[in-house]
Amino acid sequence: MSIMVPSTTPALIAPGRQALDSALHQFNQAADHLGLDDGLRTMLATPRRSLTVSVPVRREDGRMEVVQGFRVQHNVSRGPAKGGLRFHPGTDIHEVTALAMWMTWKCAVVGIPYGGAKGGVAVDPSGLSARELERLTRRYVNEILPLIGPEKDIPAPDVGTDEQTMAWIMDTYSVSAGYPVPGVVTGKPMALGGSLGRAGATSRGVQIATLAALGRSPEGVTVAVQGFGKVGAPAALYLAEAGCKVVAVSDVTGAVHAAGGLDIRALRDWVAESGGVRGFPQADALAHDELFELDVDVLVPAALEGAITEANAPRVRARLVVEGANGPTTPEADEILAANGTTVLPDILANAGGVIVSYLEWVQNMQAYSWSGGEVEHKLRDLMLEAFATVKAVAAEREITLRQAAHVIGVGRVAEAHQTRGLFP
Ligand code: NAD
Repeated sequence: MSIMVPSTTPALIAPGRQALDSALHQFNQAADHLGLDDGLRTMLATPRRSLTVSVPVRREDGRMEVVQGFRVQHNVSRGPAKGGLRFHPGTDIHEVTALAMWMTWKCAVVGIPYGGAKGGVAVDPSGLSARELERLTRRYVNEILPLIGPEKDIPAPDVGTDEQTMAWIMDTYSVSAGYPVPGVVTGKPMALGGSLGRAGATSRGVQIATLAALGRSPEGVTVAVQGFGKVGAPAALYLAEAGCKVVAVSDVTGAVHAAGGLDIRALRDWVAESGGVRGFPQADALAHDELFELDVDVLVPAALEGAITEANAPRVRARLVVEGANGPTTPEADEILAANGTTVLPDILANAGGVIVSYLEWVQNMQAYSWSGGEVEHKLRDLMLEAFATVKAVAAEREITLRQAAHVIGVGRVAEAHQTRGLFP
């Protein structure tokens, strides 16, 4: 039996630190706008709870390996902590803290009664068998068990996890509780109390926000999408269904381009067969970086943090960037895009559809009731459009970017909750 501690090379650690620096930069700008005092500023800049765990996992050949896992609850002033669970080899405590902080502001911006959290396990899920993945998930959940629960902290899918992961979490938690607790996670399979509309909710929200920001007919509007996973693939499809022309898409395997517009359903079938967009016969190959430089109307980063940096931002030609991913644009890139007249629809607004429908799933679970797909989509649309209108109005009123406005609203609402509750003891 051998214990393997995964290597933590600087290349893997740096992106997490960069994400946290970006999140803190954005928070500090909002805190300046709101004139928050030092004490409240420190309170809101730091997570309430941060847990790092070592997760032992038995491999198929009998070896034991140990990977690191994290759960961070950034803030719980407005309600239970809420946030996804990421399985990715590059994840670390800094990245998870940044993602938890963005969740806090996101829930506040769209007006749902949650705080912000995030979880992560530093592992490459593609290198594990299904049984290894199940053992890893169950052991990770067991390690963080005291933190989670339907009234405390509710995980959901993120990069590298899916509804099967959520089913294992629900089962592990329920076995420990002694009765079924569907409300402990969202993004579950329908058979376990999942919600209609949850699987495509983040992408539906991206579509709703994009169309609202365009403010004109989507017919013929050209789009490039980075990332073809749970967010990127349905977002590309929904935008194409709305009349946009999705001309380029990328994933880890490569990027593809078709000037006349990609057939997104055919591309999805190709990815299901071949494992990635690379080699899609109905398109030309593109270098990863070239996707950001295309002469398109809309660019949708839907992969990981730090995709648009000061290195490639000057070459972005899209007039509208819609952040399907969390933290895809660095603060330096943000300034360059703003100076060039590019509008950025920020992550904490643009990709909030996922947590909105997670909230609706949780409400259904808590009431042991279910809504139709139409009801869910209607509520999602209302919350997205209301949040978009509020953010746009604050941006215009204060003459700030949409990201700054979204942060001013989100941070402001959480600060108000803190102040109204008062400080214990
Ligand atoms: P996923 O694992 O389903 O998909 C990620 C996709 O990004 C994959 O297609 C992968 O190949 C691609 N990718 C990774 N690195 C890339 C690179 N360098 N270049 C091009 N493509 C690359 O993850 P997801 O759930 O779609 O999440 C994507 C982003 O959206 C993350 O930032 C996540 O935090 C955010 N997000 C997800 C949800 C959700 O409900 N899943 C909700 C809100 C925000």
